[in-house]
Amino acid sequence: MSFSVPFNDLSRVPAALKVEITKQTTQVITSGNYILGPEVEKFENELARYLGCPASVGVATGTDAILLSLLSAGVGNGDTVLTMANAGSYTTVAARAIGAEPIFVDVSEDALQMTISNLRISLEASRGIGVQPKALVVTHLFGQLNPEIVEIAEFAKAHDLVLIEDCAQSIGASNGTKQAGSFGNLSTFSFFPTKNLGAYGDAGAVSGNDVKMLDTVRKLRQYGWGNKYSIEISFGRNSRLDEIQAAVLRVKLPYVDSWNESRRAIYSRYVEAAGNKVRFHSAPNESFVGHLCPITVEDLGQVQLASHFTSRGVSTSVHFPIPDHKQKVDLKYRNLVPLPQTESSCSSLITIPLFPELTEQEIETVCSALKALG
Ligand SMILES: *Cc1c(COP(=O)(O)O)cnc(C)c1O
Repeated sequence: MSFSVPFNDLSRVPAALKVEITKQTTQVITSGNYILGPEVEKFENELARYLGCPASVGVATGTDAILLSLLSAGVGNGDTVLTMANAGSYTTVAARAIGAEPIFVDVSEDALQMTISNLRISLEASRGIGVQPKALVVTHLFGQLNPEIVEIAEFAKAHDLVLIEDCAQSIGASNGTKQAGSFGNLSTFSFFPTKNLGAYGDAGAVSGNDVKMLDTVRKLRQYGWGNKYSIEISFGRNSRLDEIQAAVLRVKLPYVDSWNESRRAIYSRYVEAAGNKVRFHSAPNESFVGHLCPITVEDLGQVQLASHFTSRGVSTSVHFPIPDHKQKVDLKYRNLVPLPQTESSCSSLITIPLFPELTEQEIETVCSALKALG
């Protein structure tokens, strides 16, 4: 029986961390304050400082973070949003939930990220049918900062698009000067337990540069209230971050950079171990925080590639198997532009284990499976 490597194992909580988290969450329990209290406020400030942004707003999930950002950008019924179709459908779900339609942008062949040239094609196609998108959601996919994010931000500004960065997979990624989440008007974060900064339940946040839009998100997350019981803006909902999750996140935030460093170090060992046939899609530097490790192998199908690993005791996954425009939901503009790279990557890549608590033996097992691919 070969040694088995899990895709992820969230139960591997370092002992010292467990002690710290238990202490802080116990303190919340005895405080009597459970929703939008001091822990949330402190976490919001600490996250904003970490990102180099003026503020951040804690919300219930990463999907809500996108939805509330879209609302605060003025997106509503009948509006359109430019986004990627290989990033898990979260933006499509959020847009559809408020009556808006996604317009997809194809990705690059190497990094599998949105590109300026594809963005231009999709924007022109939209205008060609008389549609002006209101917002642009760029996902820094797999933990890789979009290589063209600076140019994309300029493009968004020049074309009247509110730029929202989806940083659910990329907290801590930077271009050496700025952090993922500090390029756009708004940026969204998920702290789902498997993310690089994970809570022990659902949690999310919105940050970015636009203080006014952030203030709107702050109202929208709680019924649209200005003051208590007084609704100031429409379309509010209940999407609050709770004190226990905020306390967990406050303990973990200072460790994120070192965990990201561990992810990158493991990733670099994979790259070194693999032969020429294996293709990696992310950069082995600070612009990548190793949320996921997608690989492709030319002339080897997704199913065969996955079974190569599973037969060697390595669990794999696919992020993400079904592109948004192929999902079984009514999408008005699903075929507005062709999405060849999106489609080919979704049907060829697999993701292999990449998390900081992988043991030396497990890393070695993955490395030899990579080497065996030639
Ligand atoms: C996880 C994820 C989300 C959604 O976050 P939830 O907290 O699960 O709602 C959004 N976008 C991306 C890219 C994600 O990976």
